[in-house]
Amino acid sequence: MRYYVLDRGDQLSIDLSEQFHKLAKERGLQLDAESPEIVVSIGGDGTMLHAFHTFIDRIPELAFVGVHTGHLGFYADWQADELPALVDYMSGNGDHHPHKPKIVKYPLLELEIHRKSGTSSHIALNEATLKGVDGTVVLQIDINDETFEMFRGDGICISTPSGSTAYNKSLGGAMIHPSIEALQISEIASINNRVFRTMGSPLVLPKHHHCDIFSCREQKLMLTLDHINHPIDDLISMRCQVSEKKISFARYRPFPFWSRVRSAFLV
Ligand code: NAP
Repeated sequence: MRYYVLDRGDQLSIDLSEQFHKLAKERGLQLDAESPEIVVSIGGDGTMLHAFHTFIDRIPELAFVGVHTGHLGFYADWQADELPALVDYMSGNGDHHPHKPKIVKYPLLELEIHRKSGTSSHIALNEATLKGVDGTVVLQIDINDETFEMFRGDGICISTPSGSTAYNKSLGGAMIHPSIEALQISEIASINNRVFRTMGSPLVLPKHHHCDIFSCREQKLMLTLDHINHPIDDLISMRCQVSEKKISFARYRPFPFWSRVRSAFLV
């Protein structure tokens, strides 16, 4: 089995990464930076976002495993002291029987960005946000090619189901189980008064729907895909839909989504 490890860069994560390589070598796993079958992220959910974007061109061909060096995360279900057990599971050694992981697939967000300078396509694991740099942004939001509303405020967040527990949650969005192929649109501080009106509630769109966000005037915007910022001052529009691609996670033992939610936010 070919693997690669990405760590957060703090001392604990670096140490664990070295420990992983040592154990993996002993168990016959093969380090492969170019075409790994499994990518192990050691750090936090933020590290998984980095791992996802590092291998963005190979997403359909590999599966991710997360090791958390803090508390258990949404994308990381192994703890630091469980590394030997994880390597055993991955290699089918030790006390563990050879084990084919369950592959769990989560939906991704697809974006098509139309700028005066050209068109580009992207995918995101958590969300895309479009925010103003100089103050209030004015955006027209169309759903399935019909104008839905004019938005004025700080910005808009479009999240995946697995990203719904991140920024989207802070914006009052619903947590959505990742088995539901959907995207969620939530507002970032909309201006609402007698003159300007927006829906005010987060909207959940199914896979076969799409949403277009038009920039309604010359404005400096910040498009953020997960943790990556793209300053844009020539946006025409941005199409958002559920991607045909999905991210795969290799699960060597069950850790259901609602248990993750509970352990992250309640206990
Ligand atoms: P960061 O600002 O250093 O960390 C953001 C926090 O979000 C971290 O605690 C991270 O967990 C957590 N997180 C990431 N993905 C998550 C998920 N799917 N469910 C629940 N929590 C999650 O930034 P970063 O580490 O580069 O991560 C970028 C993410 O930060 C963005 O995708 C966005 O979702 C989130 N964000 C949130 C807010 C907000 O809530 N107001 C504002 C900006 C960005 P770990 O500690 O395990 O890494």
